[in-house]
Amino acid sequence: MFISDSLEEFREGKTLPNATHIQTGLSLVNQELQRTGGSLHLCAVSGGEGDPLLARVYPAPLRASRTSFQRDRERIVQARAFRRLAGKTQVFTSRASDHFRSRLTHTMEVAQIARATASALGLNEDLAESLALVHDIGHPPFGHAGERALDRCLQRHGRRFDHNLHALRIVEHFEQRYAAHRGLNLTLGVREGIIKHSRDYSTDQHPDLSPYFLNQSPPLEAQIIDLADEIAYLTADLDDGVESGLLEIAHICDHVEILARCYRIVAKQHAGVDQKYLFNEALQLMQNTLTDDLIETTRANTRAIGANCLEDIRNHPERLAVFSPQAEAERLQEKRYLYDTLYTCRELENEHDKAEEVVTSLFNYWIEDPAELPAAYFEEVQTEGLARTVADYIAGMTDSFILLQYAQIKRTVRR
Ligand code: MG
Repeated sequence: MFISDSLEEFREGKTLPNATHIQTGLSLVNQELQRTGGSLHLCAVSGGEGDPLLARVYPAPLRASRTSFQRDRERIVQARAFRRLAGKTQVFTSRASDHFRSRLTHTMEVAQIARATASALGLNEDLAESLALVHDIGHPPFGHAGERALDRCLQRHGRRFDHNLHALRIVEHFEQRYAAHRGLNLTLGVREGIIKHSRDYSTDQHPDLSPYFLNQSPPLEAQIIDLADEIAYLTADLDDGVESGLLEIAHICDHVEILARCYRIVAKQHAGVDQKYLFNEALQLMQNTLTDDLIETTRANTRAIGANCLEDIRNHPERLAVFSPQAEAERLQEKRYLYDTLYTCRELENEHDKAEEVVTSLFNYWIEDPAELPAAYFEEVQTEGLARTVADYIAGMTDSFILLQYAQIKRTVRR
């Protein structure tokens, strides 16, 4: 019997694995890795020997078992800031239910979509996955309400809060796991993607970011992250919105064309099935439809400019990873619906007011009394100034930790 036949039987569950299977399985995995590497699209980030995007600030020996971007993924997943995403609000706080997305589960959904999209386009999946896993690591507690409140606090001191730039500072400075250096020492490709996945920065306003090719477009692996993020939350927020009782399926179908169309299709396929299962099926179909649209449109755009290397993507002034005009119009329609009916509804606005009160009170408390900051932050006050240091401390907190701080400080102030 050939080893491959024996492996086949093992895969089909007819035999138990033995040393030969495992050995052969590993060599097949290695062949698979090589094949994947060899079949990358010409415009993909190669991640191979000599790729300048693999540069790290501090030298790190290459590993035979993992690619550099796979190592970045592991460094990100093992970071404290990544683990704290479990305790940070996406849209709904976990105080109301354990079923809602946290920023961590949202991140995992983005990673799935990004990886599938990268795979279909022949892009570097490891880079795309690392970028998806790190894309929200700079978010403060309480979702966008927390981010707005922190930004308003900093503006009073002539500074701004930007979660992409904060993410870069986390991976470059705040994470302390290694003996030889501060930060996670990620590759240049991942650091560039962290700041450029969702917006562009000018060298005039951000001279400190000049090593990140600010006058060039980011690689497709970074461009797809923002849209994978959109697909993930457009799907999840409808789902969590219905779960919370704040949105109704019939109302969504009356106002969100893409979901309505998907719902009609699945209702035809599953006649007589309960509405909540049809809604789940419709959400899945909508997510697949948007992902397929992103893949097809990005592929067509790349072909249309005759791109056949990464430099062609970098030198093209517009982003090529976009939705088709129809999908883009439907995306905007749904986003408007979510803003009008969910993000700004009374119940969530109450949460936002509370977030504003907590963030602003704590920010003012430490600005007025910096000696109350943890000692670990004293040094940063000297280099970054007090306002930035207080914002950094608050931005790192989970929802539950910041609420605890708020309760303790209220008690202290009252005494
Ligand atoms: Mg996100």
